[in-house]
Amino acid sequence: MDRLKPSAANLSPLTPLTFLERAATVYTHSPSIIYNTTTYTWPQTHRRCLRLASAISRFSFPPNAVLSVLAPNIPAMYELQFAIPMAGYVINNINTRLDLTTVALILRHAESRALFFDSHLRSLAMGAVSLLPPDFPHPLLIPIHDQDDDESAGSDDLGYEGMLERGDPDFRWVEPKSEWEPMTLNYTSGTTSSPKGVVHSHRSIFVITFDSLLNWSVPTQPVYLWTLPMFHSNGWSYTWGMAAVGGTNVCLRKFNAEIVYDAINRHNVTHMCGAPVVLNMMANYPRLKSPVQILTGGAPPPAPVLLRTESLGFVVSHGYGMTEVAGVVVSCAWKSKWNSFPATEQARLKSRQGVRTLGLAAADVVDPSNGESVPRDGLTMGEIVLRGSCLMLGYLKNPEATAKCMRNGWLFTGDIGVMHRDGYIEIKDRSKDIIISGGENVSSVEVESVLYSNPAVNEAAVVARPDDYWGETPCAFLSLKEGVESRPAENEVIEFCRERLPHYMVPKTVIFMEELPKTATGKVKKFALRGIAHQMGSQ
Ligand code: ADP
Repeated sequence: MDRLKPSAANLSPLTPLTFLERAATVYTHSPSIIYNTTTYTWPQTHRRCLRLASAISRFSFPPNAVLSVLAPNIPAMYELQFAIPMAGYVINNINTRLDLTTVALILRHAESRALFFDSHLRSLAMGAVSLLPPDFPHPLLIPIHDQDDDESAGSDDLGYEGMLERGDPDFRWVEPKSEWEPMTLNYTSGTTSSPKGVVHSHRSIFVITFDSLLNWSVPTQPVYLWTLPMFHSNGWSYTWGMAAVGGTNVCLRKFNAEIVYDAINRHNVTHMCGAPVVLNMMANYPRLKSPVQILTGGAPPPAPVLLRTESLGFVVSHGYGMTEVAGVVVSCAWKSKWNSFPATEQARLKSRQGVRTLGLAAADVVDPSNGESVPRDGLTMGEIVLRGSCLMLGYLKNPEATAKCMRNGWLFTGDIGVMHRDGYIEIKDRSKDIIISGGENVSSVEVESVLYSNPAVNEAAVVARPDDYWGETPCAFLSLKEGVESRPAENEVIEFCRERLPHYMVPKTVIFMEELPKTATGKVKKFALRGIAHQMGSQ
């Protein structure tokens, strides 16, 4: 057959920005955003984003300039996910829990031209900008006064709302010249190293958005509760996803278990995402009136936590991803035959990370020394590698780190896992977190999972403690559940593990803490715990 060439009609670039106009046409009267007393419909959100994009484009920054945003999950944060790229610029969401120095480092590294900031975060925004060198071009500061929040409401002539009102609702948004043009810049949270700027193209974001909807079987018009911060990998790309399916975005400035339950009941929430720490937070609450789909990921969810969450009426799906892939790319796809298994076995199976989603060409576990796949035995550990269309373009201004991460046609994740006989992947650790005791690899995740099954334990993290004889031994850090009357003794915890784990995996040290230290994205700061274990020295 002759090879046909694509024409201009085929070649329109893949971008998720086109979803918005369609949502406004189809979901005419449906709420796009609900936040306190504010409700927008999809046509309103569409117009507001066009106005905003037009106002932003008047700044005439060079194409693909970076514009940063420092805001919680409020309507403006959602709108900016569309408006900044619709003006032809790259959106850089900054984690609001970072410190001044790190925010300044990001603004400088990204050469950010503008910083939209929630007025509650004024001191963080101003403080960070004041740390920039005087001769460095400072970003334009645009405050967002939240009109639906008494503490930050105010005149907004010079801020976000004023700017938006002056914008043109008939603006012709700036289509990317190619789908490979950059669209997002996210700095990784630095659990294991200093932050790196992950750049995604319109194309990779389009693919992951589709993939994330399909993979979680999201129906049209879900009611989606935003607990996952949009600054965390653009809310695993469900920001654009909600426009694709005409969902309702229920926004929350901040939340705790009570606020989540209240929002679920008040708005009939059907879907939400949350790291395992969010599942843990809701553990002591009553059963839901109707089921809510919850997608968990971002850290390994221990099976006992999954079991407890499902007993509350949540239907838990488990996915694995990272900033470098903009969302979930491996997930524990459920097999109907598992429905007949006991609940504890179901939770154990579900705590495995699973198989590649459809948007990924391949996911494997390889021996990093030779790139060969490890045997499918559920035992041999190797590094998890990924290949496919939703991978990042690379790290901004960091070709060395990009080449180290993306080589031989794969993205090396730095996560250590095994491949089970059924082709499902299970993470055992991050490469930096694995404990080597007497030459045996100890998966901190496995030990933590056992600790989580202890009824007194709220949070558990296991790290390596230096040991003259064994090299390293597992050291457990625990916080206890509220209301636990007597703290278990160290040897009781050790005995509990001994009954459930091989000898070499049993923690030799147990340290109790009020609460475990967390990173800005709510992951346990293992490097800080390792520091404590190292200071304690050899046993
Ligand atoms: P950081 O590397 O700074 O934590 P990310 O937010 O991109 O930034 O985190 C990605 C990492 O989170 C993965 O490499 C993996 O270690 C961990 N992770 C994500 N999802 C899961 C999961 N479902 N199970 C276990 N670990 C996970």
